[in-house]
Amino acid sequence: MSEVFDVAALCDAIVEGGNSGANLRADLEANMGNGSVAGRGVKQRRAIAKAITLLESTRSEHRLLADTLLNTLLPRAGRAFRLGISGVPGVGKSTFIEALGLFLIAQGHRVAVLTVDPSSSLSGGSILGDKTRMERLSVHPSAYIRPSPSSGNLGGVAEKTRESMMVFEAAGYDVVIVETVGVGQSETAVSSMTDLFVLMQLPNAGDELQAIKRGVMELADLVVVNKADIDPDAATRAQSQILSSLRLFGMHGHPDRAHHDQSIWQPTVLQLSALKAIGMKPPTCAAATDASAAASERNVAGGLGAFWAAVQTFRDLQTQNGQLAARRIQQTQAWMWERIEAGLKSRFRAHPAVQAALPAALDAVLAGRLAASVAARQLLELTIIQE
Ligand code: GDP
Repeated sequence: MSEVFDVAALCDAIVEGGNSGANLRADLEANMGNGSVAGRGVKQRRAIAKAITLLESTRSEHRLLADTLLNTLLPRAGRAFRLGISGVPGVGKSTFIEALGLFLIAQGHRVAVLTVDPSSSLSGGSILGDKTRMERLSVHPSAYIRPSPSSGNLGGVAEKTRESMMVFEAAGYDVVIVETVGVGQSETAVSSMTDLFVLMQLPNAGDELQAIKRGVMELADLVVVNKADIDPDAATRAQSQILSSLRLFGMHGHPDRAHHDQSIWQPTVLQLSALKAIGMKPPTCAAATDASAAASERNVAGGLGAFWAAVQTFRDLQTQNGQLAARRIQQTQAWMWERIEAGLKSRFRAHPAVQAALPAALDAVLAGRLAASVAARQLLELTIIQE
């Protein structure tokens, strides 16, 4: 089925107050009578869905339209705060994002949730895309949850997520949450497209079972020890263990994270209970004594508030010292180079001269007749455009 994409109309419907503002207002007024403001939202949501379908399309004529769409939306994108969240399956990401999303919406924010799911790119299935996740948030008019595209490699999925992020920002979503599973390269992808990267951990973080990959830990601006209600003492132990590892990492090779400098954000660790934050009673834990239950109550009652306060401190500090702007500039440059490199690689592989010469070159390399570096150079030369 071929979709018809009118990019100008799409942009108008995405951007609030665009040329179709009159229509949107009419929608709004018509719907206000029912006590609902769904009209504007529905129209915009449809446009967002259509825009993302266009961005995800692999047809070359769609790519040109998608490029026009992105360029038109560009001046309106970039205004949201971009929050990356990662953690192993079961750590409580969706429970936490649902609680956080509802908390932010209650404060007047509009929240988009996007996923970078490495499992969906490998198998077409998805760890994160399960429709039953975030039930309350997903039906809220001020929220939009968009699962990963289910095809393409991780780089492709990450690229679509970045582009979709621009659509949501242009549509006035002021908090964009990008979620990923704590496996593989997806954390790096997500931290390279967000302003603040949150790593979620379980209270048994100190155990050998939950080996925290140093590389991932170094990406974290904020670590959340979730499920603090289950064993508050373990959560507190994990919090201080993780904090000392963060400090250790901070002291090695990160002079800009030296913790005597108050004008720079220091990665920190919080504990909370996403389940309590969302207003659900966690299952009673026999191990928790009355005293520790009371301590847990104290620790987690304001868990979400403390989390958002930390995010705001990060944002204020990193805006004042210029790190936030620098991070975005660096991300934009890296994104462009990443796309250039990916494009060069696929063009190289598809080049007829390379396809013709590759099998023999590979044979020669494997048989030890040709050095790998020489073969690479010879193949590359086949694609060089003679001036
Ligand atoms: P995800 O795979 O990381 O998205 O994890 P989910 O949000 O689906 O949570 C996995 C399980 O942990 C669910 O059964 C949740 O109800 C439960 N859970 C999440 N957060 C908490 C918490 O703070 N405390 C407790 N006790 N359970 C939690």
